[in-house]
Amino acid sequence: MWGRVLDAVFPAQCAGCNAIGSGLCDACAPPSANLAVSFDGISALATGWYEGTLRAAILAVKDGRRDVAAALGRRLAPLVEPGALLVPVPTTRARLRVRGADGVALVAEIAAASNGASLVVALTQGAGDAQRGRSRTERLAARGRFTCAAHVAGKTVTLVDDVCTTGATLVDCAGALRAAGATVTGALVVAATKAERLWEPYSATSTMYSSNARTS
Ligand SMILES: [Zn+2]
Repeated sequence: MWGRVLDAVFPAQCAGCNAIGSGLCDACAPPSANLAVSFDGISALATGWYEGTLRAAILAVKDGRRDVAAALGRRLAPLVEPGALLVPVPTTRARLRVRGADGVALVAEIAAASNGASLVVALTQGAGDAQRGRSRTERLAARGRFTCAAHVAGKTVTLVDDVCTTGATLVDCAGALRAAGATVTGALVVAATKAERLWEPYSATSTMYSSNARTS
């Protein structure tokens, strides 16, 4: 409610140059240099490196900028398979309490809406005492710091996150989803850090799944 009111009062403004109109203007947005990496049965795609304006935009989303989240969602949209079921990597409850919105979920929502895909919020982070009162299936589906709701059983899902550094978060999320009975084959991230994983240029003309088949 307040989000919508604020959106009306403060128009979208570029995270790079403050120009009015978009959370990330065409002049500031680095061209989508799609990058791919595969690990733990997951084909991950990123729209560019975690540096410069893309990094600034991701940090702005962490600060609660919905206009910038929308711009990043539109940037991610071309990588979304039509009809895909997107699962956002959740923020911590503490951050959610402070910011009032989950930036990654907003990015995923826009990306899904622009491409005929849908979004399911299945994961939560920072379980702590949240295990109490859960069913056995739900407890088993709690893997590391992530807990997965049971309603994704039998579904094939694609993870969405803002930044991928080591891939450990995606692997943990995939573990929780798989324990809950879901199939996880892909992940989409806005940006990849240059260290750790060997990301390779990815041709947008092939789909995520043909890319997966090619590397396996
Ligand atoms: Zn700009």
